[in-house]
Amino acid sequence: MIAVLKQSATPEQIAYLTRWLEGMGLEIHTYHGNNTTVLGLTGDTGSVDMELLGSLEFVDVVKRVSEPFKMANRKFHPNDTIVEIGNVKIGGGHFAVIAGPCSVESEEQIIDVATQVKAGGADILRGGAFKPRTSPYVFQGLKEDGIRLLLEAKKATSLPIITEIMNISTLDLFEDVDIIQVGARNMQNYDLLKELGKTGKCILLKRGFSNTLQELLMSTEYIMREGNENVILCERGIRTFESYTRNTLDLSAVPALHELSHLPVVVDPSHATGKARMVPPMAAAAAASGADGLMIEVHNNPSCALCDGAQSITPAQFAELNKRIQAVRKAIE
Ligand code: PEP
Ligand code: MN
Repeated sequence: MIAVLKQSATPEQIAYLTRWLEGMGLEIHTYHGNNTTVLGLTGDTGSVDMELLGSLEFVDVVKRVSEPFKMANRKFHPNDTIVEIGNVKIGGGHFAVIAGPCSVESEEQIIDVATQVKAGGADILRGGAFKPRTSPYVFQGLKEDGIRLLLEAKKATSLPIITEIMNISTLDLFEDVDIIQVGARNMQNYDLLKELGKTGKCILLKRGFSNTLQELLMSTEYIMREGNENVILCERGIRTFESYTRNTLDLSAVPALHELSHLPVVVDPSHATGKARMVPPMAAAAAASGADGLMIEVHNNPSCALCDGAQSITPAQFAELNKRIQAVRKAIE
């Protein structure tokens, strides 16, 4: 971190600031130029309040030269992390496809979709049990029963399963769940992230609607610094001025996150577009962008889905999409 001081900074002010920063355990390197003094701060600068430092009357600008995220940072971990879920691997050249309905609705529905997505090439089954819905008046998920049915589908197909947690008080129910999803709405629920960091579970962390990549990576720190390094990042579209699609799929997040971090990145084109017909082309684009996997909503009868029917593709469309993804992956190899 660098602090550029104003020309008017007095030697007393510089000495005061240096003592204050040293008191925080930092090393201070001082450069006196003709017009300005520059302080180079090294050590653990993550806890320095940049706004506070910048607000001092004799400080001109404060700049970070290294990112505040450490555990997820590629600089400290140059090799790609490969997250393993049973026989499935994600990251470091391993591509995995997560597919299934937005919500688990019944035993018949989840077993049928699970069987069909497996036949269509899915590696992992998704299904929401605790649903974070915008309206409290609509289907909120089958909750505990939803997880039970998802586990039945896991038994029937031997696909690993992923489902979303909304509250840490339900953690016990996730014992046999392979990947715990933290949804966009909870990306900055730091207490939840910290508790999940204490579990050995693989966590899929979705980017919040209006969150920067740095904020997403800072959220991963909350999980990783508790000892859990099994984190998968998920780009699921962000909110922009465009209203034609549900969100705007920020595909540049894929190479950007790969540059910044060693963690695998999957893309969810279903929540990003909100329109089933746009899912296959954006899934192909995501694969072409270098994503490590996809999360696709698939329903056996989208027009009757209790949640997100408009963005759900059918199992037949999913199988087609998957063939296209294989072709794209081969083409960019
Ligand atoms: C979901 O995957 O079911 C979901 C609710 O997604 P998001 O958190 O991205 O809105
Ligand atoms: Mn959904």
